[in-house]
Amino acid sequence: MGQATRTTKLVLDLGERGQGGANTGKRTHLTETVALLTAARAFYIDFFLTHADKLAERVSYYSAKHLEMRERAISANELLTWAEACTVATKDHPHPWPSWNFSERFPDLPFAYRRSVIKDAIGKVRSYLSNRANWEKSGKKKGKPGLPGASEHPTLYQGTCELSLEGTKVADRFVRLKVYDGKRWQWVNYPVTCSRYFQQRHRDPAWEQHSPLLVLYKQTAALHFPQTKQVQAKKVKESRLDPDLVTVAVDLNVKNLAVITVRQHQQIMETLFVTDHGLDQQRYRCIKRIAKKQWLSGKPVAGERSNQQMWRHVRRMNADAAHQVAHRIAAVCAKYPGCVLLFERLRKIKPRGASTSRRVNRRQANQLRGKINQAAREKAYALGVVTVETNAHGTSQFCSRCGARGERFSIRGGVRIAERWGKLFRCPVCHYEANADHNASVNVHHSFYQEWHWQPRLKRSG
Ligand SMILES: [Zn+2]
Repeated sequence: MGQATRTTKLVLDLGERGQGGANTGKRTHLTETVALLTAARAFYIDFFLTHADKLAERVSYYSAKHLEMRERAISANELLTWAEACTVATKDHPHPWPSWNFSERFPDLPFAYRRSVIKDAIGKVRSYLSNRANWEKSGKKKGKPGLPGASEHPTLYQGTCELSLEGTKVADRFVRLKVYDGKRWQWVNYPVTCSRYFQQRHRDPAWEQHSPLLVLYKQTAALHFPQTKQVQAKKVKESRLDPDLVTVAVDLNVKNLAVITVRQHQQIMETLFVTDHGLDQQRYRCIKRIAKKQWLSGKPVAGERSNQQMWRHVRRMNADAAHQVAHRIAAVCAKYPGCVLLFERLRKIKPRGASTSRRVNRRQANQLRGKINQAAREKAYALGVVTVETNAHGTSQFCSRCGARGERFSIRGGVRIAERWGKLFRCPVCHYEANADHNASVNVHHSFYQEWHWQPRLKRSG
């Protein structure tokens, strides 16, 4: 039993006012809200750091399972109640601690926001304390963990955010947020750019919805809804014993972004090539342009990022391609319920080559492969498909039919030329010839079943 997670994003419309975007006043409200909440979070981080012993407190409780009194660490909710009792003036506690009077410092802060910042602060301080304890135990001089920062995307619990998408007119679709306008807290309507894809994902009954985060950047603002789903997935050890097991192997490359092969009963049933549609070329051109612009404008200024828009473009292209390829992989997995998804342990395609731009491009391609792996893993897990990483030893060098070592070659002008980067693969023993990436993809299955030379890797100690 596991849990799959995903994020559904709803973008607030900060576009042109004449085209339905929020006005500038509303935008500054968002900035002010986030700044105030950061200050409130910093207050509670200070508070918990000064009272670190409270976080380490043990509480005794009666365990119904073991029928005896037991001890456990204090829970986040108990800490929250305790922190509120110490810092917030209420009827029951009219006098909070004088140096930690939250009600005085942040008057009228809605209690839902207060709880969210306290929870953030508890999480941050807890992780800081445990990191510091680990560091002290390790006895190293370097790498002392820094104090936790206070900035974080605020969580909008119930009572600070209301979403109404029921309006049939697009203009009626908005989200009501409780924001700080510099003087007081009030409800403000924000227009949203809401697509049917968002509505589909938002209403999907299979996924449990959690409180959204307000993600505010310089140009954009969005609500991120985390969603979770309980997944029943078999253990790989059990699946491996199943004689009818279907395995889906993926070989990740640069031009053929993914070569997917499906195998059952020792036969390849399906093959799918996912090409990059010229992404590698396109990215190379972008990187070259960045290099040229950099050259024209001279040395980069220290502490300042250059070519931000171009880099953002490259990053977005990569992220988009990763999701698309992962979607294709997940679609293949969905066809074979109970299958196992195989990746080889990522090996780096070494960034070597004539020009810097080429090397940078290769590095970006490596990143893309990592992203595809990550996204496919998550998408497949939501379908109940478990991912296995196999030993990548020589998947592209050995014959997938007989297991002998082969060679790669290309055909240029009708002549066969043996070269290491060739697109084709040839086996000198059984004279099998195939696309090199396809051959590698089939070998991933062999690696999973530990056939021929693919034996499990010895665990290295230390
Ligand atoms: Zn062969």
